[in-house]
Amino acid sequence: MDESASQEEPLDTPADGRDTDDRERDGRDDEQDVIEQMHALEAEVRRCQRCRLARTRTHAVPGEGDYRAVVMFVGEGPGYEEDRQGRPFVGRSGQFLTETLARLGIRREEVYITNVVKCRPPENRDPQPDELEACADYLERQVALINPRIIVTLGRFSMRRWFPNGTITKIHGQVRNIGRGRVAMAMFHPAAALRNPRWREAFEKDMQKLPPLIERARKANAAARRGEALPAGVPHPGDPDYEPAGQAGHPAEMPTENDESASATSAQ
Ligand code: SF4
Repeated sequence: MDESASQEEPLDTPADGRDTDDRERDGRDDEQDVIEQMHALEAEVRRCQRCRLARTRTHAVPGEGDYRAVVMFVGEGPGYEEDRQGRPFVGRSGQFLTETLARLGIRREEVYITNVVKCRPPENRDPQPDELEACADYLERQVALINPRIIVTLGRFSMRRWFPNGTITKIHGQVRNIGRGRVAMAMFHPAAALRNPRWREAFEKDMQKLPPLIERARKANAAARRGEALPAGVPHPGDPDYEPAGQAGHPAEMPTENDESASATSAQ
């Protein structure tokens, strides 16, 4: 709430003077805009020639899922099957990811899944720094458009995007504030989890943190739609560019597990 708003002010008359109808109308317009921009971005990725991976790919793999998802999974890059189909996480590790989500009551269709590089590195080698750099802008734009509350990194390369100094064996499963009303959690890549029973156990345990996080994220979004809280994607208290004056909303919509997380990187 705006600090100037009285306690008695009805929730559907937020401090900016706009009523619920205005917000719903704007919401529908915004949603259509996101769909159109995501389609344009995906088309751009499919014809992209920015790095050498364009020469060896069969299909670029922009990502797939709900454009309104509260959680976005970010893996490393497409593998053989993903390159063949043009879809992310459709091979063995993708099946494992989908099944793990389903066991927790999360449908794959309700999340968004993408990778840090959108084209398959030959022979599944690691993506190279210049390839990661060339492709980074697409991920930035996907995050900005989908505006998730939760980002789950799968494997080392996406982990480094949000946790540049992190070591996966140490930080997996930790939920950290990354600014803009978002949290991130690093997890083992499902392919690694399938290779190593201990990592598989950690993967499945870490994933169990998601359902309550998703519930909190949905509540935070609902509160933001009612004008009672800050939406994701704008500066929040604790962000370097947060300006309290004139901001409507409650500060901590997506609290993290512990206070130490508040000092984590804010790389959005
Ligand atoms: S990996 Fe990314 S930057 Fe490189 S060609 Fe594919 S879409 Fe373009």
